[in-house]
Amino acid sequence: MCSFHVTGAIIRLECGKPEHISRKELMTLNPSKTLTKYLLATGYAMLFLVACSPPEQAAEPAAESPNPNAIDLIIEGEYIVTMDDGGLVIQDGAVAVDDGLIIAIGSTQDINREYRANGTLAGDNRIVMPGLINGHSHAAMTLLRGVADDLDLMDWLQNYIFPAEVEFVDDEFVRIGTELACWEMIRGGTTTFVDMYYYPDMIAQVVEQCGMRAYISATVIDQRSPDAESAADSLVKGQSFVNNWQGRNSRITPVWGPHANYTLKAEQLAATRAAAIETNTPITIHLSESPFETTYSEQTYGMTSIELMESIGFFDGPTIGAHVVWPTESDIQILAERRVGIIHNPTSNMKISAGISPVVDMLNAGVLVGLGTDGAASNNDLDMWEEMRLAALLQKVATMDPKALSASTVLRMATRGGAEAVGLGDTVGSLEAGKRADVIQVAFDDVHFVPTYDVISHLVYVADEQDVASVTIDGKLLMRDGEFLTIDTERVRREATELAARIQNALAERNR
Ligand SMILES: [Zn+2]
Repeated sequence: MCSFHVTGAIIRLECGKPEHISRKELMTLNPSKTLTKYLLATGYAMLFLVACSPPEQAAEPAAESPNPNAIDLIIEGEYIVTMDDGGLVIQDGAVAVDDGLIIAIGSTQDINREYRANGTLAGDNRIVMPGLINGHSHAAMTLLRGVADDLDLMDWLQNYIFPAEVEFVDDEFVRIGTELACWEMIRGGTTTFVDMYYYPDMIAQVVEQCGMRAYISATVIDQRSPDAESAADSLVKGQSFVNNWQGRNSRITPVWGPHANYTLKAEQLAATRAAAIETNTPITIHLSESPFETTYSEQTYGMTSIELMESIGFFDGPTIGAHVVWPTESDIQILAERRVGIIHNPTSNMKISAGISPVVDMLNAGVLVGLGTDGAASNNDLDMWEEMRLAALLQKVATMDPKALSASTVLRMATRGGAEAVGLGDTVGSLEAGKRADVIQVAFDDVHFVPTYDVISHLVYVADEQDVASVTIDGKLLMRDGEFLTIDTERVRREATELAARIQNALAERNR
């Protein structure tokens, strides 16, 4: 059977198996029925002949055999930026997706000749690339964006964020805040994020529903927090979260999130690593973030945070270290040897004046470095395009070398490099057959892209989150031409606005 599919400016005709009739059937005793069947079959054959080029194939029994190349989705683009080993960029290309996997990449013509898809995303004015990896976030903090700005880290944390969280953060806050964050991340083409916040079961439920891919932490912190009384309590609760979600959904990986060196004692950090080893889960932690942490570690332990972690065997399992602004040369060697994934958060580091991370030195030493936004309270958005741009610019001004951190390097950090840093290098981060289909289309028909000399340069130095046109995760469409398919935008807006009004009223009451 044939059907027309109109996708943007492209009209495609999909053909299945035309009904076949043999000469022998023509000789049967039911001439009228046979004739009808013959005419029908001839009609289909004619249609097939016209529609499915090359015509000489259409006349052959190829049309009779079951179609082996029926697939779920074809994603087309004027450019396919694969981020593979060779940095391949295909002009006028397409990505074939089936059963959640990328099964082939090639020219649009070849892919459409080889495969017949249930759906097609047209490629006019589209750049197709891997989804972005946000390696460090506190998603539900979207509800605290702008609540306290222009403060240094410890003032901001101890006098504003921690007290506000104890007062306002509950299950409902996390549900609404995480969904708001997922909306923004999908809008901006982020397909995977690594989250550290409270009520992780609720975070996981939101992620499960909206279709994103995430590492979700059981946060461990040695103080009263919204969902635990102490480090020991958070370890017990974390264990229950890990048990609930391990192996439950391939997009969701439960991890442990010990907050930092300065909010946990060395034995609590070691206990968290022991729990991670026992449950075969990775860890994410704030590491060497601020001058405060550096001084605290020297005064408390007589060594850097990274040396402390090494001395207690903290790096004995997969670790994602967020920030790493103040590593020494020997710290960088430890990070490289122990394959610790580092997540650079330029906006947050600048906003809180944490410092400038020696990203170029770490990359040169072979450290795995990805990018993240941190929470929206210290950013104040979740725009990975902005992180790319600022990461590149910050290194150039810090080193006084415009060649430092090129556009292609920073694009790699946001995609494949980030995937490797968080331990998903074999799963996502590049467009290659066999990887999960986490694929985005960036529209580059907005006038701010004109002219387009270099597509990689534009992705890093021009593109914004509003330029993302479609987002596919695990082969499922989450956003198409800006339309959300798994999140009710107006409900999210309403719920977030109402909850923020309650927070604002309570803060005004408290400060009266
Ligand atoms: Zn953070």
